[in-house]
Amino acid sequence: MNISTEVLHLPLRDPFRIARAEPDRQMTTVIVELEWSGLRGLGEAYPVAYYGETPVTIGVVLPLLAEVVEPLGLPPANATDALEWLAAAERAMDERIGGHHAAKAGLDIALHDAVARGMGIPVRELLGTPEEIPPTDFSIGIDEPAIVAERALAAARFPALKIKVGGTADLETLERVRAIYSGPIRVDANTGWEPEAAAALLPELVRLGVELIEQPFRAHELGRLRWLQERSSLPIVADESAETVDDLDALLGVVQGVNVKLMKCGGVGPGLRMLRRARELGFRTMLGCMEETSVGIAAAAALAGLADWVDLDGNLLLASEPFSGLELDDDCRWRLGSSPGLGVERSGHRGLITTRFGPGSSGVEKSVENLVDQ
Ligand SMILES: [Mg+2]
Repeated sequence: MNISTEVLHLPLRDPFRIARAEPDRQMTTVIVELEWSGLRGLGEAYPVAYYGETPVTIGVVLPLLAEVVEPLGLPPANATDALEWLAAAERAMDERIGGHHAAKAGLDIALHDAVARGMGIPVRELLGTPEEIPPTDFSIGIDEPAIVAERALAAARFPALKIKVGGTADLETLERVRAIYSGPIRVDANTGWEPEAAAALLPELVRLGVELIEQPFRAHELGRLRWLQERSSLPIVADESAETVDDLDALLGVVQGVNVKLMKCGGVGPGLRMLRRARELGFRTMLGCMEETSVGIAAAAALAGLADWVDLDGNLLLASEPFSGLELDDDCRWRLGSSPGLGVERSGHRGLITTRFGPGSSGVEKSVENLVDQ
């Protein structure tokens, strides 16, 4: 098994700020390329420092994961056995090291792409998830209310907007967005609200046609989340409080919805299980993302049929990316075509530094390659 990782720094279209972080003007992500006896797969590991991961931890952890997957032997060529094999790979990774879910997602996505490509079918078909998927919303970061409204106008073709809140002018921002946009508005406070202020805002949110409230309070403050949900006719959706399937039981009776992200839970396999379990438990489900390229977004889109709300817009926030193949329909649904695997190919140059490792390499080799074309 040969794995290359490439750290990509990609500029965003607009600065993107959430309540618990400084504004991003570019994103950093790790692309994983797998080659294994003729199998080929692309994966993505988007490191989020909040969850304890960086490009460096991903670079250190990926070889440990590859070491425990390789002894499983090549994946079988029929869907049922291949899915069992992928689940075994996931268990082996979890036994090797706890946490590090973005690193695990990087390899898990590349394995799903490789297995489905090898069988000549899309990842969605391999998984057997519904073909019919909801449209994605579009997210706008915290900024001056007039600027947020301008960006909302530019994104008015999306059937829902996700507005980041937890800034200093949330109500004015939402008023200005509502003045130019008639669709549902989802608000995401990324842990940045306080209980009394949030409760006071509830009637205004209802009046303004807000559809849901994502993660108003800090991740561990489940009592506060329950307190607000009891007072709110709008669903409260846990994001930072809902990292993996293991977090779901504690959220029962606390919030009405959960936001599942491949980078929080460990990839396509863990994402599929978390969505299924969340639905079994009666949660409404959102499928979200980080500021990912089309590789990560295509992997999540294969699961979108299991989500009530789709928030897969990371690649749409990028000014450019070196991948193509994932297209948005006129009604803002990701097109799940018939291309094998994720249906995403590299269409631009490699990034600055590529790290390769595999059985043939003596430790980790680094090589500097061509500059990104920007
Ligand atoms: Mg969120």
